[in-house]
Amino acid sequence: AWSAATAERELLLAGPRSFCAGVERAIETVERALDRFGAPVYVRRQIVHNRHVVQDLERRGAVFVEEVDAVPDGSLLVLAAHGVAPAVRAQAAERHLRVIDATCPLVAKVHHEVRRYAARDRTVILIGHPDHEEVVGTMGEAPDHVIVVAGPTEAETVQVPDPTKVGYAMQTTLAVEEATETAAVLRRRFPTLTGPRRDDICYATSNRQAGVREIAEQSDLVIVLGSQNSSNSRRLAEVAEAAGTPAVLVDDASEVELDRLAGARRIGITAGASAPPALVDELVRCLSGLGPVSVTENGTLTEDVRFALPKEVSQP
Ligand code: SF4
Repeated sequence: AWSAATAERELLLAGPRSFCAGVERAIETVERALDRFGAPVYVRRQIVHNRHVVQDLERRGAVFVEEVDAVPDGSLLVLAAHGVAPAVRAQAAERHLRVIDATCPLVAKVHHEVRRYAARDRTVILIGHPDHEEVVGTMGEAPDHVIVVAGPTEAETVQVPDPTKVGYAMQTTLAVEEATETAAVLRRRFPTLTGPRRDDICYATSNRQAGVREIAEQSDLVIVLGSQNSSNSRRLAEVAEAAGTPAVLVDDASEVELDRLAGARRIGITAGASAPPALVDELVRCLSGLGPVSVTENGTLTEDVRFALPKEVSQP
């Protein structure tokens, strides 16, 4: 079948794609902690939701644990980019762990909003996926004040103790359009609703969704590089499909099924905010091995966001 397809295949690379500033900071934090303090460096949960990143850091001496109680007393613990509930910090303090916090500053900002609302005794409606680690952590800031709603349907029926005292916040990696719709429902139901000045969905999430929409409109198939447990990567595949183009989410080139490529002359490629850029290069190389390709970089938006590293690994 491949020999019949002598026509050049077009690969359209979405921009921006791959690592965001929060993920780069979190990975660099673990790398520097390993350099500075030596292995093992314990990390609670996946530092970022990507299998390749986790495996790479494991090889270099990072030890990933589910909970703080798996970390030996007095060890060094890095908290992952998704943020944690205050209770986790308290557990770490009890065990005399040395903690380095790699929570993305944009997640920390949402935690701050929730604390502020709770302090004013408002109910906080948190738009997000209830099982996602980020949402679990954010909710932990004020468990008695937060109600999680996943989308517009739940927003229509959610009940609060006092409808005149409600604020909302969001998970940072939601689908932009759906989250906007959910917020609109809440605003209609609770006219005095207060919210963040700018929505909490982060720049990296919204830029990658805009980027994938553009390439999806011109492609027969979209390949999204990212892990299944990465919220922002999953949303990229959904945005492509909402634009009418079939999409697959894969960890790397080896997971792309050849059948899926049949008849796909223009293939759009993107990567979630937690997926290393090298995976895109590898995918392009593999696709070039199947026949002639042309590669086009799409998207004009550039990102210059950078976050300072935690002081434990940045100070001399
Ligand atoms: Fe931070 Fe957004 Fe990246 Fe998450 S996706 S780490 S919120 S910049």
